[in-house]
Amino acid sequence: MDGEPLRLRALIVEQNAPTAQRVSSALQAQGYDVAICSDPDNADSEYFKHDYSLLLLVVDNNKISNWNLCRRIRAGSSSAMCLIGVVSGEVDDLASALAAGADDFLLLSNQDFDMRLLVVAQRAENRRNWQAVQGHLKASEARFALAAKAANDGIWDWDLQAETLVLSDRWKEMLGCSNNQLDDSPDEWLSRVHADDLADVRKDLDAHIQGDSPRFENEHRVLHADGTYRWMLNRAVVERSANGTALRLVGTQTDITVRKQAELQMLHNTLHDPLTNLPNRALILDRISCALERTRRSTDYEFAVLYLNLDRFKVVTDSLGHVVGDKLICGVAERLQTCMRTGDTVGRSVGDEFIVLVDDLDDPSDAVRVAKRIQQQLSEPHLIDGQEVFTTVSIGIALSNRGYSQPTAILRDADTALRRAKGSVVMKHAVFDSQMHDRAVARLELETDLRRAIEREEFRLHYQPLVDLDDNNRIMGFEALIRWQHPTRGLLSPAFFLDMAEETGLIVPIGYWVLREACSQLSVWHKQFPMSKPLSVNVNLSSKQFTDPALVQEMDNIIHESGVNPYCLWLEITESVIMENPQMAREMLTKLKERGLQICLDDFGTGHSSFAHLHKLPVDVLKIDRTFISEIGEQGENSEIVQVILTLAEYLGLDVVAEGIETESQARQLRDLKSGIGQGFFFSRPLTTTAVEDMWCKQPSRFGLSPLLN
Ligand code: C2E
Ligand code: CA
Ligand code: CA
Repeated sequence: MDGEPLRLRALIVEQNAPTAQRVSSALQAQGYDVAICSDPDNADSEYFKHDYSLLLLVVDNNKISNWNLCRRIRAGSSSAMCLIGVVSGEVDDLASALAAGADDFLLLSNQDFDMRLLVVAQRAENRRNWQAVQGHLKASEARFALAAKAANDGIWDWDLQAETLVLSDRWKEMLGCSNNQLDDSPDEWLSRVHADDLADVRKDLDAHIQGDSPRFENEHRVLHADGTYRWMLNRAVVERSANGTALRLVGTQTDITVRKQAELQMLHNTLHDPLTNLPNRALILDRISCALERTRRSTDYEFAVLYLNLDRFKVVTDSLGHVVGDKLICGVAERLQTCMRTGDTVGRSVGDEFIVLVDDLDDPSDAVRVAKRIQQQLSEPHLIDGQEVFTTVSIGIALSNRGYSQPTAILRDADTALRRAKGSVVMKHAVFDSQMHDRAVARLELETDLRRAIEREEFRLHYQPLVDLDDNNRIMGFEALIRWQHPTRGLLSPAFFLDMAEETGLIVPIGYWVLREACSQLSVWHKQFPMSKPLSVNVNLSSKQFTDPALVQEMDNIIHESGVNPYCLWLEITESVIMENPQMAREMLTKLKERGLQICLDDFGTGHSSFAHLHKLPVDVLKIDRTFISEIGEQGENSEIVQVILTLAEYLGLDVVAEGIETESQARQLRDLKSGIGQGFFFSRPLTTTAVEDMWCKQPSRFGLSPLLN
């Protein structure tokens, strides 16, 4: 309907002109446009030309024609819009009129004819209005159905009084059901809702029916005929009676499975490790959090966190490549999953680290048993690309019975226990205890202190003499050895803090301080104690320092600032540092050598350097590790290795320092073996600057060291 005001039209088919006239005037007074047609056989064309709301058949003699006309109009498509009344003088016509489909019958002879006519006119008008509203409704219903179809939504209509649910075809189709497969009970829907979602659906429905929410809206899973669950969004509004009683719920259902799956996938991705698909650290922390919550609620619930780290994983990736490394990680992940119970969670933290949450322990010792089982399972070789790869694992264990409140705290303790397990050779697993806690705290304090030590100028250098064994132990130079004058702990040896300095990278700035300090001290001594062959100083370089890209530039600066001759500066590098990356090491050593610096291979004999590499390395001195020296007995026992190294050095044209000489006999034997240079407690312990200067004044160039007699 187009919204234009309704026109009231009446068609009077008359065979009696005066009556027709009387009726016509009465209707016109009611606002009707009136047309009069005198031939019932031809009235159809007039009727169908216009949109009449009232047809009055005024019957007189040709009654059959009138009844036929009435029947034809009734059969016509728009007849429902029109009220048909019969006006007659004889009451006998009533039956025929009704049989022909008339809606009303007016007897001309009745006294209240005019009033009855007004009532009929009103009825016609009401019918027209009602038809118009119906038409509007139908149109909007059709529009709604079209929109729902376009949106691919299902429609449902729940009569809350009758407890019936009418489902649209599309609704049924969405769940793979045919039209007649479902009856009209609300259970057809609710019994299909996933058990985990049902309570929520009911809660939201009740809230809306009670009037606590503006609409019902809920996302949930509904069972499809194929046995799978589909995610549906159901929305509805309630229709209420005048007194507020909920009568019916009318709603739509949208299939949101694709969106939901994408959302779930995204959520999965943020909580899982992409390589192994195991829970990642964030998810594990969440699970630990839940477990901690449970320990608070139930006193006899206990769990354990196992922190796992593969031993020598770097060796695998370095030798076999990252692809094999990744496959090994996946293999380990698989085995871990198979050897855990269902309630347990296996996750991957980073790199070669895994975390296992062992749920609901009967006894704390079970955690150790689980750790052993894991170690046993993982020690079986992994077959990767037809190759057997071996790996072992170290495990740190933390038990929930220590009253943790934060998941990160228990994880941290498991990690601390892991570091301890890594250090042990046999067990390879450790349970966190309070001593470890104290040690961890102490380490943390140490790290904080170490960060401040440079600016607070707490480092000192001690100098241990290197002597010429062939020239009555004449002092040739010193090895600079770092000490830390800690404000509360006193003088600390490098064993106490160097590992941490290396781990934290602080070794780089500390190392440059050592170099600066040693060079400036040397230049002072060069002026103070001029000698024909100037004193040299040995400075140790750690792995991180040696690979620092700024090393060469810093070296140039330091040499320039101190003014020392670079030939007097010996850099000590261990074999193992060089073997980490021989190619890079050779390039770096070449650059350092171009500056005239002397290179000394420290701790020689312990680092498995291949002679092939050694041959190509630009080094000047081999420093035999003190373990080989300390083994040399009074009668020259166990000196074979030293002899081999000396022969090798001679072949390569390198000088040799024997370090760790503690006895006169060792000193004498090494002199006789032509070691050349010696260092050790036998000659002198590392000394402070003042001690060096005091001794020098008392006994120049020999520091009171007794010359070897024979
Ligand atoms: P190292 O380079 O092998 O230094 C020799 C170590 O052996 C020194 O220990 C020294 O005191 C000790 N030593 C010397 N003669 C004897 C002896 O006759 N018997 C015994 N048993 N030991 C002897 P220290 O000073 O505790 O230094 C330990 C390690 O710390 C050094 O081993 C070196 O690797 C490292 N280090 C020391 N100072 C520095 C430094 O400034 N930078 C770097 N990167 N490392 C340093
Ligand atoms: Ca050294
Ligand atoms: Ca050494």
